[in-house]
Amino acid sequence: MNSDTRPVVFTNVRIFDGSGELPFPGEVRVEGQRIAQVARGTERVSRDGARVVEGGGAVLMPGMTEAHAHLTWPSSVEKFVPGMYLPPEELALTAARNARILLDHGFTSAYSAGALSKTLEIKLNEHIVSGGLPGPRLIPSSVEREPPNESELDPGKVADSVRGPDGMRAFVKGCADIGAKAVKFLLSGESALKPGASHEVLYTEDEIRAAGEQARESDVWLTGHAHASDAVKLGVRHGFRVLYHCTYADEEALDLLEQARDRIFVAPSIGIVQATLDANPPPHIDMRHMKEDAAIVMERQRGLVPELRRRGVKLLPGGDYGFPFNPNGRNAWDLELWVRHLGYTPAQVLHAATQLGGEIMGMGDELGQVRPGFLADLLLVDGDPCADVRVLQDKNRLKAIMKDGRFHKAPGAQ
Ligand SMILES: [Zn+2]
Repeated sequence: MNSDTRPVVFTNVRIFDGSGELPFPGEVRVEGQRIAQVARGTERVSRDGARVVEGGGAVLMPGMTEAHAHLTWPSSVEKFVPGMYLPPEELALTAARNARILLDHGFTSAYSAGALSKTLEIKLNEHIVSGGLPGPRLIPSSVEREPPNESELDPGKVADSVRGPDGMRAFVKGCADIGAKAVKFLLSGESALKPGASHEVLYTEDEIRAAGEQARESDVWLTGHAHASDAVKLGVRHGFRVLYHCTYADEEALDLLEQARDRIFVAPSIGIVQATLDANPPPHIDMRHMKEDAAIVMERQRGLVPELRRRGVKLLPGGDYGFPFNPNGRNAWDLELWVRHLGYTPAQVLHAATQLGGEIMGMGDELGQVRPGFLADLLLVDGDPCADVRVLQDKNRLKAIMKDGRFHKAPGAQ
């Protein structure tokens, strides 16, 4: 932990401010938690009492947001964990470690897409906020809820996983009462786990309506895993704030998403899809069916995302990292995939990962941009991510990582 509380001035940097505009030369002054001044070109910021960081022409940009985070999915770039299950103590330590790993890799914010423990992310977030553990700003969630079923990966199999509107209300209220900020539902199944399941809607209209009403009453956000078109429609109609995948959205679903574009965020989550296509598992693990499904999903997303973007829907990278073949810490890989598959330029996907990242965190007026008054969550990057977004995948190219005006990684540190 860095105890130096002097203001920080970054000089000789090129600033990517989050808007999507290409980096411009300038200087930035940070005071306390926030950006105090941004100078352009030959203008200068005040150096009064400041620690001056000579940027050497590096790019200074906002920290990134992972929009589909699973800190309790155990695998990371530092530690391979076969499968998904860990004893509770080890799960807690692993999640804390994954939080630090995301921050080490330039993700200063994370929007949780569900956890493998009811309360763990909420407790973890308290430790991060109090400064006791390193990690991103976190929108914590509870377990991912799905209806009772026989599936092996069934984090929603909890005592309150019952059917009916009352069960839904109780679940949402229960999550809110323990401090969850977002509540995640599997609105559709998942074909990668069970063939054909992505086309199944798992809840009734009455159930999701009840969840929506309770969420508004309890002041929590709803997040949905939704491949099937009808699952997308359910989510939009009942006030879900974030929808993942939306793979099979039909014309009516697209229209609904467009109408809701001021309040909804879509994260297609193609990282897991490409990772499935690329995986080279040992012979005893049969991924043929998963790979066939992934090929179909990727093809759909290549058409869907440009269409949603044309309609003004807010789209964010974030890729379901934490599986053995798609580990936490590789999150910046998603940006490369958006450039490769979805028709984005590096600057456009960086805008999505930063400025729109601030918005999905519910802090769009103070997070995700390099602007006076905004929170100083900043990365100093050796290289120009707007020329080649892949530089962000190498944590050694992150010369400095600042969150809340304090260095998580100070310049000069390894
Ligand atoms: Zn997920």
